Amino acid sequence: MDSSTDQTWKRTHYSKNIDTSMNGKGVIIVGWISSIREHSNIKFLTINDRFGNIQVILKKNEYPTSLTSEIPKISEHASIAIKGKVRSEPKAPNGIEIIPVDFKILSLANKKSPIVIQSRKGVGIDTRLDLRAIDLRRPYLQSIFSIRYTLLNSCREFLRKEGFIEVNTPKIISTATEGGATLFPIFYYDREAFLTQSPQLYKEQLTMAFENVFEIGPIFRAEPSRTNRHLSEATSIDIEKAYADYNDIMEILERMIHFLWDEVKDKNKLHLKYLKIELPDPSFPFRRYRYSDLIEKLQNAGESIDWGDDISQQKLRNLDDNDMKNFYFIIDWPTSIKPFYVKPKSTGTECESFDLMYRNLELSSGSTRIHDKQELIERMKKQGLNTDAFDFHLKVFDYGMPPHAGFGLGLERLMMSMCNVDNIRDVVLFPRDIDRLSP
Ligand code: ATP
Ligand code: MG
Repeated sequence: MDSSTDQTWKRTHYSKNIDTSMNGKGVIIVGWISSIREHSNIKFLTINDRFGNIQVILKKNEYPTSLTSEIPKISEHASIAIKGKVRSEPKAPNGIEIIPVDFKILSLANKKSPIVIQSRKGVGIDTRLDLRAIDLRRPYLQSIFSIRYTLLNSCREFLRKEGFIEVNTPKIISTATEGGATLFPIFYYDREAFLTQSPQLYKEQLTMAFENVFEIGPIFRAEPSRTNRHLSEATSIDIEKAYADYNDIMEILERMIHFLWDEVKDKNKLHLKYLKIELPDPSFPFRRYRYSDLIEKLQNAGESIDWGDDISQQKLRNLDDNDMKNFYFIIDWPTSIKPFYVKPKSTGTECESFDLMYRNLELSSGSTRIHDKQELIERMKKQGLNTDAFDFHLKVFDYGMPPHAGFGLGLERLMMSMCNVDNIRDVVLFPRDIDRLSP
């Protein structure tokens, strides 16, 4: 019989459900071997399952002789089922261990893995990414991805409570939303199409019917440079709200970050402890720097930067401002460097826009959007866009498009700020970048 369906080897307990009160009780545990230590006649095995691990003691002359031939198959990473008795052992990591009466190797590990399970940083990132599924067995990454799971769930919970509905918009599109340079072209039957850079235009349109929408989904960007904060495929948390402006949206974002921080603190205590992270409370409300004031501040600090330039990460890093060691907004950007759909202020040169920053990392961009068709067409023309290509979008503006505003927030950037991770690749299961398309 196939061992995976063999009922006599069905797991009775996860590691987390075994404690000292079960001393002497028979259990069946199933998992993979994360470490083997040998001490004279004793093998100490650590068996991991999805909730944790437990120690197993194999002592020569104590296990049945029928198992002798199986012993050489025991190696790190192998999958194993063990029938045994629980024994209290104060010296064991969890205060308990399992003394086997029988075991069965469910899947052999034929090779020695280059990845060191207990290591925080592990071997080189390329070696790790080439064998990512094995890399993901490390407690360091298990902690990171448990936090990511909480963030995703809590985001949904927060936005639902705020009256947003979750939507899914097309990922195959006919025209760029954020400018053409970073689009991935694809074959679409007999035509050219693209992978979407953001759900921007669709979420705006949906405010007509649903008022408040959010989407958590992939965005694709052909980023030409190799940085530690850009992926070719990232996950974006996008919201769009009718009858709102950028101030309303900044308030929602602030509240959302607070909620997420509280949830992770509550649900991921052990993971935060393992990662040695003490999450500080975000100061509230987040400091708001006007773009113009920040440019002046940078100029006073000796940076060569002009009004109208984008503000680079490097330039922000050089600023010595304690309020920038946490979350803050940069607001009222020049209209010329923001996308065509961002609403200019009455001056025209500045627009109702914000970036949410954590230290010198951009987490989110948001704005009030233009809801007037003619104004939108003019902005498109100024940015050199072919308005015909946006006909599918512009035509709905003839039917009472509500004033609206929203943001796009990079989930991986949020993870980097929360978990103190320098390389964005470590907070994605299977990262895509200019050099990597596999696994
Ligand atoms: P950056 O200036 O950092 O390249 P951007 O201003 O081009 O970002 P937006 O178009 O404002 O990005 O996208 C909204 C958010 O999506 C960003 O603030 C960021 O968190 C995330 N994001 C954008 N591009 C990427 C990417 N290539 N990899 C990971 N996250 C991204
Ligand atoms: Mg941006």
